[in-house]
Amino acid sequence: DVAPLHTLAIECVAGSDALLLPRVPGLPDEAFRHDGKMTKREVRALTLARLMPLPDALLWDIGAGCGSVAIEWMRAAPRAHAIAIEPRADRRAIMAENALALGVPDLDIRDGTAPDALEDLRAPDAIFIGGGLSKAVFEASFAALKPGGRLVANAVTLESEAILLALHASHGGDLVRLAVSRASAVGSLTGWRPAMPVTQWSLVK
Ligand code: SAH
Repeated sequence: DVAPLHTLAIECVAGSDALLLPRVPGLPDEAFRHDGKMTKREVRALTLARLMPLPDALLWDIGAGCGSVAIEWMRAAPRAHAIAIEPRADRRAIMAENALALGVPDLDIRDGTAPDALEDLRAPDAIFIGGGLSKAVFEASFAALKPGGRLVANAVTLESEAILLALHASHGGDLVRLAVSRASAVGSLTGWRPAMPVTQWSLVK
């Protein structure tokens, strides 16, 4: 709904935390409750740009964690919907809180492990693999993706990166390395603190 989101943003500006919550992806990390296992702001914005939220479109968020990508997907376009698959109950609980707080209480949160949990789900317009990456998870999800659909997979470990390299060799698409550094105090001066680089593979079916 447009109105509640708008109201929420205004309330936050009026409150002491002064957090603006636009629909454009790349919300501040502080807008979400999380346990550290979350795609951070800059990488999240680029991930959503590749997923391309559109009105009425369905996202499968595989390994959804605290829901940051699915929630930004639903906020970004009218009636955009998401199925978020996450096996950990503690993260599903945080995800439900985030969905409510950020104006998308309809987020469809499911307990399960890919690829088994993907059976019988409605065909998606976009797929994000943010956890549980394997060749089997890719193959099961990509088979269900609608023609013209987008798939994005992010990897931070060498093991996951090796899977993406193999998938890129067999299926094409774009392989991009995202390395974000943030300026912070080094004694009384300032230096760059690099976050772990993220390898992002994206593909249009
Ligand atoms: N996608 C989140 C980050 C979540 S961290 C974000 O972008 O903010 C990765 C998550 O994947 C973990 O919560 C983990 O429980 C989940 N996971 C691991 N293997 C999985 C599998 N096979 N299917 C579904 N989820 C899985």
